[in-house]
Amino acid sequence: MKIIDFRSDTVTKPSKEMMEAMFNSPVGDDVFAEDPTVNELQQFAADMFGKEDALFCSSGTQTNQIAINVHVQPGGEVITNEDSHIYKYEGGGIAKNSGASVRLIRGNRGRLTLEDVQQWVNPDDIHLPVTQLVSLEDTSNRGGGAIYDFEEIKKISQFCKENNLPLHLDGARLMNAMVENKIDLKEYASQFDSISLCLSKGLGAPVGSLLIGTKDFIKKSRRVRKVFGGGMRQAGIIAGGGLYALKNNIERLAEDHLHAKQLEATLNDLPWVDSVLGVETNIVVVVLKDASQRDVIIHKLDEKGIKIVAFGPDMLRFVTHLDISSSDIDQTIEILNTI
Ligand SMILES: *Cc1c(COP(=O)(O)O)cnc(C)c1O
Repeated sequence: MKIIDFRSDTVTKPSKEMMEAMFNSPVGDDVFAEDPTVNELQQFAADMFGKEDALFCSSGTQTNQIAINVHVQPGGEVITNEDSHIYKYEGGGIAKNSGASVRLIRGNRGRLTLEDVQQWVNPDDIHLPVTQLVSLEDTSNRGGGAIYDFEEIKKISQFCKENNLPLHLDGARLMNAMVENKIDLKEYASQFDSISLCLSKGLGAPVGSLLIGTKDFIKKSRRVRKVFGGGMRQAGIIAGGGLYALKNNIERLAEDHLHAKQLEATLNDLPWVDSVLGVETNIVVVVLKDASQRDVIIHKLDEKGIKIVAFGPDMLRFVTHLDISSSDIDQTIEILNTI
């Protein structure tokens, strides 16, 4: 039986072409900054984003945690959405790694507004933690792949600049947003002090994330990466996959978005579906009419080779990606209509 795996876009496997690129990548000791492929990837990403420098790391959790550690002092506070990955899915890392507290904002599908940020930056009062960082997530994972309105980002960025507050972007799926909103990447990136980008999700590389920012920020990040145990040696063998991904796999994300829309249309008509969070990119979040049916549906789909995940007590999540073809979508739609 063919398995169609919608659990996450992290399940993608490197293509033959990508593996060949990896196999042929020159390598060196990256702790000495002597890996030519890692250096090329970092330069390529910095140029692409119009930033000074970049750092190749093992995961998106690592790039986010390094950024937070560089921006924040122990006892400081990070403003973020209550559903953000940096808070919810990084094992309490903000507290554990950086000794910082978090101001969690309730928001619309994982996003913050200028008003949220304005309201929750603490005044200079010795009772209060000092607000030291604002972090946005685009696209929002828990928000079902929702994209930020660029005008809102610009307002938040302007406010952060006026208040000397660094602004971080968890851009794990940033390229999904960019393919849809068609904003100039350099203009977009100029709004942020640091950006984390996953190479191992929809972009299809097996391992790795990039942290992007100023020379000074990346210099500090390189030190923190070492302390966190993330200094790698001949990392070019994996960075080669990331370089291939940035050069070849961005535009095709539009295909994943089309597939997600096709699933949304089908799901919206099913009797057991209450609603689907409006699909904007490659994530489809389904709210069920009856929470008790959640595991039954997951099991029935699993029996037919379709893998999805629970996304809360009454929700399911499907993620489309480069290892799911149009015919896989057709087959999934057929199966969804029968269960
Ligand atoms: C996947 C993801 C990350 C990083 O995850 P890793 O598995 O550590 O690479 C960070 N932020 C968001 C929003 C994500 O979806």
